[in-house]
Amino acid sequence: MRIFFRANATAAQVSRVEKQIAQLRFRYCRSKGEQGTVVAVIGDDALLESRDIAKLPGVDRLEKFSVTYKQASLEYRQNKSVVQVGDLQIGGDEVVVMAGPCSVEGREGLFEVAHRVKAAGASILRGGAFKPRTSPYSFQGLGHEGLQLLKDASQETGLLVVTEVMDTRHVDLVAQYADILQVGARNVQNFDLLREVGIAGKPVLLKRGMMTTIEEYMLCAEYILREGNEQVILCERGIRTFDSFTRNTLDICAVPAINSISHLPIIVDPSHGTGERQFVLPMARAGIAAGADGLMIEVHANPEQAFSDGPQSLTPDLFDDFMQAMQPLARAVGRRMKQPVRTRPRPDKE
Ligand code: PEP
Ligand code: MN
Repeated sequence: MRIFFRANATAAQVSRVEKQIAQLRFRYCRSKGEQGTVVAVIGDDALLESRDIAKLPGVDRLEKFSVTYKQASLEYRQNKSVVQVGDLQIGGDEVVVMAGPCSVEGREGLFEVAHRVKAAGASILRGGAFKPRTSPYSFQGLGHEGLQLLKDASQETGLLVVTEVMDTRHVDLVAQYADILQVGARNVQNFDLLREVGIAGKPVLLKRGMMTTIEEYMLCAEYILREGNEQVILCERGIRTFDSFTRNTLDICAVPAINSISHLPIIVDPSHGTGERQFVLPMARAGIAAGADGLMIEVHANPEQAFSDGPQSLTPDLFDDFMQAMQPLARAVGRRMKQPVRTRPRPDKE
């Protein structure tokens, strides 16, 4: 239910209504935007209506949510939300870049890439320790050892870490090592996993599935929000269409579409979205021009030797060029690429 206030409602009147909602133990969000002051409430609508809230001073009217994905929607929060990860903000003016290898394969390659992407301006190191592979015979990731390598690289470079969690049994483990828990395209509707990462309370990067409609995707995010975890970052990474020329069809229109219905930050992954390194820069530009808040880019020290996704991985040199080439585009659409920060090793988090 959404409670709309009159333009001249006082802060005390709004607080009085919020107090009533708090007594009912309902979750709510106050926001001020195009529709004036609105308090959006998640709870039993009938119970709320029985409290005669519409008659309280300052209240204009009550309206039900028009969408099923309540908390993910702009009806719940009228202004864009910013996800704070350490010192970093995702969803603000600056375009944030997550970069690194598809899979964590070993210390040397990971550290080389970590130092190089950091120097070029990435803020977050990506890399899979648990890998969702189409074939069970393909490299499945280093697991726990990969998580430790990510943490070591993070401590040496100061980069934050995003890595995938595939299994509810691993959520606590991955959360000990990662700053952001990634839920991959194949697990976007693994509802138990969504609940668990919601409970874990860490920022979550939720990738769109290759067959997920935008409405279904919003409901996937809702599973995480429902657990009280508001730190959800969306990611368009390509969908499966009739055309197999590129690995996936990167649905750039999903960015303005989602921005028109949701307050959640959204990034674009042109590496998985295209499957080919030559298309990564143009589609990254398209993503930022369309309103994305960040990018996920695969970078490998030696793509020819990569255990996974070599053809779409940039070399560190190409990533330098990529970051330079993104700057004028970001400026043209009123954004800035987050600038490289002086290397500052992170203190051990434990
Ligand atoms: C990944 O980012 O490592 C990955 C497997 O991506 P996706 O889930 O989008 O396929
Ligand atoms: Mn990959």
